[in-house]
Amino acid sequence: MKIREIHIYAHDLPVKNPPRVMSSGTVWSLDTTLVRIVSECGLEGWGETCPVGSTYAEAHAKGARAALEEMAPGLIGADLWPVQLHRKMESLLNGHHYAKAAIDIAAHDLIGKKLGVRVADLLGGVTTESVPTYYSTGVGAPDEIARIAKERLAEGYPRIQIKLGGRSVDADIATLRKVWEVIGGSGMRLAADGNRGWNTRDAIRLSRDCADIPFVLEQPCNTIEELTVLRNVIQHPIYMDENGVNLSTVITAAGTGLVDGFGMKVTRIGGLHQMRTFRDICAARNLPHTSDDAWGGDIIAAACVHLGATVRPDLNEGAWIAAPYIEGHYDEKAGISIEKGHITLPEGPGLGIVPDKDQFGAPVVSF
Ligand SMILES: [Mg+2]
Repeated sequence: MKIREIHIYAHDLPVKNPPRVMSSGTVWSLDTTLVRIVSECGLEGWGETCPVGSTYAEAHAKGARAALEEMAPGLIGADLWPVQLHRKMESLLNGHHYAKAAIDIAAHDLIGKKLGVRVADLLGGVTTESVPTYYSTGVGAPDEIARIAKERLAEGYPRIQIKLGGRSVDADIATLRKVWEVIGGSGMRLAADGNRGWNTRDAIRLSRDCADIPFVLEQPCNTIEELTVLRNVIQHPIYMDENGVNLSTVITAAGTGLVDGFGMKVTRIGGLHQMRTFRDICAARNLPHTSDDAWGGDIIAAACVHLGATVRPDLNEGAWIAAPYIEGHYDEKAGISIEKGHITLPEGPGLGIVPDKDQFGAPVVSF
């Protein structure tokens, strides 16, 4: 199975009730990049990558398209099987995992269609047809965030992630207290996501002031060195998110016991091929993790859900998708959506999404 054509599209994704506020930046709309690969047998597969603005990660939309354009000519005629495909991409461009992930996702979609199986089967087999998800709030006033938490609890979400950081730590502590008043004792799991927004002083204070609230502290500070400092002085479990940029970092963090779990993004680590290895490393060390992406539409959401369907249930912190926060679907019939805090795995072969490509207009560039 070899690549015959690659088409790259740019698409604007409107954010519902903008803006979305995080410690790392404020987002009003999103510029997503879609990739359509056509194989020599005429089947097509879709991939997507969508950095959430330009300050969340070391990634931005125009960078994704430039990296794809750099690789695409050399990928015509390349093998679609993931090991060969990734070796080829590495031979064409160093780094830029988030761009390579779009090619990787399209390849998995195409191989699944060719074999008549779902991507989750390609990744090792389906553990659940109903994949848990979690709700992620923006940074907001304590009462407002507590109101959102109460609503999501009533809707059946098993987990909520509260965005914090980038403001007074007192406001963050007040928010956690208000949220816990609402969800404490309900069984809903709680993550406090600093998105790199605290220094160690504030993270220590927050953890000590909220010692009675059982949350996981997600990516509290900017660097691995700061996480190492926190490791020895706080009581809360620490999850790595933004620092988990590649499998080498994951192996070290898991192997040395630096963290108790991960928030992981399919595109940050390079695609579903790397996510499969990441999932298995976590299972070997009994580390819970999510199967997320930054943002994006139905294609990236489907990739997260297929991976999420294969995670060992006791380690599954959920597949986060952007669907509740953006308008519309690429596939009106099979578009990914959430019900009672869970997502039904799509039925069709590959990703199970048939995007209406008229939405995307003409490709930015084709090879
Ligand atoms: Mg996070």
